[in-house]
Amino acid sequence: MHELGITRNLVAIVAEAAQGRPVRKVWLEIGTQTALLPDSVRFCFDVVRQGTLLEAAELEIVEVAPGWLCEDCGTPAGGEAEAMPAACAHCGATRWRRRTGQELNVKAMEVETCV
Ligand SMILES: [Zn+2]
Repeated sequence: MHELGITRNLVAIVAEAAQGRPVRKVWLEIGTQTALLPDSVRFCFDVVRQGTLLEAAELEIVEVAPGWLCEDCGTPAGGEAEAMPAACAHCGATRWRRRTGQELNVKAMEVETCV
């Protein structure tokens, strides 16, 4: 399963950043264009975190919708479209740069503080 390897990497990254402290919660940003299914990631997370610092961690998945920026003037396309927009409302250019939708980031994490 595609998600399993990716989730394993993410858990490893978070565990390393936690520096030995148990992790309470992890926020994960997943772009809707990544072909990663949040439900699959959630499932893999439950498997992969066993025996790690993330064993008791809650997983919050934030889905990021696709967005575009005009290549010429930097104006964002109106709305959030899966497909590339036709022409820039500002300058009429038709070349676009992807702005969002392909994220796969650990956005934030919360660790237990030492008492
Ligand atoms: Zn433009």
